[in-house]
Amino acid sequence: MALAQNMPLLSRLVSSSVAIASHAGGIIRDILKKGELGIVEKENASDLQTEADRAAQRCIISSLNKCFPKITIIGEEGEEETLDTSDKVFDPDAMPAVNVKCPSELSSLAEEEIVVWVDPLDGTAEYTQGLLDHVTVLIGIAHSGKAIGGIIHQPYFNYQTPGGKLGRTVWGVVGGEVGGMPLTSPPEGKLIVTTTRSHSSSTVNDAISAVSPDEVLRVGGAGHKVMLLLEGKAHLYVFASPGCKKWDTCAPQAVLEAAGGVLTDIKGIPIPYHSTAPHRNSTGVLASAAGIPHKEFVNKIPQHVKDNLKA
Ligand code: AMP
Ligand code: MG
Ligand code: MG
Repeated sequence: MALAQNMPLLSRLVSSSVAIASHAGGIIRDILKKGELGIVEKENASDLQTEADRAAQRCIISSLNKCFPKITIIGEEGEEETLDTSDKVFDPDAMPAVNVKCPSELSSLAEEEIVVWVDPLDGTAEYTQGLLDHVTVLIGIAHSGKAIGGIIHQPYFNYQTPGGKLGRTVWGVVGGEVGGMPLTSPPEGKLIVTTTRSHSSSTVNDAISAVSPDEVLRVGGAGHKVMLLLEGKAHLYVFASPGCKKWDTCAPQAVLEAAGGVLTDIKGIPIPYHSTAPHRNSTGVLASAAGIPHKEFVNKIPQHVKDNLKA
């Protein structure tokens, strides 16, 4: 159904992005089913791209561009994947709209003021290895350098649950609300940390040891790890390494902060999301579920780990 043009831009953008991310999830599933992954290495062997990353980005960027032509969109797979995409456009009005409440301070933004960070497939390594519940599609919305809205789509949610509805899309607006999932607090009396499974290093492990976790969940994808915080399965996401990019953290940060959590770099400093910000989150990532004292954990990260991560 077409969205009323008098709705705030942010509400329309989030609702359309929910539909577009869900459609991109279908593209990702179809490519895996066909088995023609077309894997290429990007920076190195631990940084892969598949046809699913490329096709999902073509669909997401061309579809958002068609609906919101003046927004700046930055996609992980670069500009090549956004050329000649006229046949890849998906009309989000083909799916039911979601009702997205917009706080008054964000209700009169113009397209020119918005930057969208797109990770068309987060958890590519895990996708190629069949760890399908680690895969997410991320569309992050920023204004004045801050993450203000986010969409996390899980194309394989429930894929091992007989009779369960396949796929789920979660969205959030900072100062507004989270939709698409029930929020759960992590258990009291213990500390569960989630971190990378395929990009570990000695500083990543030093930072984890310093917060004295009872349990460490090593899983793929920034989107998936933040989902664990929202589902009450972990208290903290610790990644003391420069490998994560703005498209990995923008959407998860917005959804997490809409739910009352916090995501910063490993030093507790906000991550900037202006269109000119460096893509790399060179000072790492630290995220806390709602109700977890973020600052106390920033203070526990060893100084040598912080000094090792330079902006
Ligand atoms: P991970 O927690 O290892 O799944 O990483 C979360 C996101 O950051 C994924 O999109 C990874 O591709 C990216 N990432 C993290 N570390 C690196 C790295 N060393 N090289 C390339 N990408 C990385
Ligand atoms: Mg990613
Ligand atoms: Mg990706």
